[in-house]
Amino acid sequence: MVSDALRGRFDLHTHSAHSDGTTTPSDIVELAAELGLAGVALTDHDTIDGWEEARAAAARAGIEFIPGVEITTKYDGYSVHLLAYGCDPGENALQAELARIRMSRVNRAQEMVRRLSSEFDIDWAGVSEHLPEGATVGRPHIADTLVARGHFSDRGEVFERILHPASPFYVSTYAIDTVSAIHLVADAGGVSVLAHPAAVRQRGPVPPERVAEFREAGLWGIELDHPENRTAWTEPLREFSSSIGLEITGASDYHGAGKMNQLGERTSSPELVNRLRVALAAPRQ
Ligand code: AMP
Ligand code: FE
Ligand code: FE
Ligand code: ZN
Repeated sequence: MVSDALRGRFDLHTHSAHSDGTTTPSDIVELAAELGLAGVALTDHDTIDGWEEARAAAARAGIEFIPGVEITTKYDGYSVHLLAYGCDPGENALQAELARIRMSRVNRAQEMVRRLSSEFDIDWAGVSEHLPEGATVGRPHIADTLVARGHFSDRGEVFERILHPASPFYVSTYAIDTVSAIHLVADAGGVSVLAHPAAVRQRGPVPPERVAEFREAGLWGIELDHPENRTAWTEPLREFSSSIGLEITGASDYHGAGKMNQLGERTSSPELVNRLRVALAAPRQ
């Protein structure tokens, strides 16, 4: 299964069952090793609970583990996902913020389920069966429950039909302001990367002036090589991002069986990961 194209490369964005992925951190690391990747980052939504298992699995498999997290943030009322790498897990301010986001996600998911229960066979106990203990809850877990109860065929269909932001069943969740999140990551000794800034599901790409503002705040990179980015939106951003000194990363956003995205579908070079290590080792201003 080792692919020559993947040998020595890194997948910097994956999800396990600690959030909305369907496989364990060990499964992801083992699959990465089978594919010939040199390393993999685990970037569950708003939690670092999978790090320990992933690190141990990587040591066994002989590949590198990069600790990450995908933070739920917002700017101007738009949802923005911020990848953070190498944060100190003992940094209380960051952990407290992640806990606040996860808590709001529970309240929000419960309210969505309450609304959905008027039309579908769904209740919170049912969703809990599709939610591993302690995992960050999201709309995918609600989708899994509706699929299991026979209302829809897969996650994608549920999102398209009733879980999108314009749906009457949709409820928003607390998100930290993007610039504050970038500062929080830096204070925790980490490096931040703007996730899928041109994703097809967004109304448009993150505007260049905002990207510039995030860069001013300390943003290190931008994930332009992502399966869900719309090419027509990515290309203008690519030139702009390079001109302001942002690193350009590539990653799959693997979710196990929860999404079409395949591990290693997009990757980053060993040189990019070297620069990431250098950035992590640099003293903070
Ligand atoms: P939430 O975190 O509750 O806002 O839900 C967003 C998550 O749902 C994202 O992290 C995606 O992984 C997932 N998602 C969004 N759209 C889809 C889709 N069409 N199919 C499967 N998963 C999706
Ligand atoms: Fe996700
Ligand atoms: Fe994301
Ligand atoms: Zn993601």
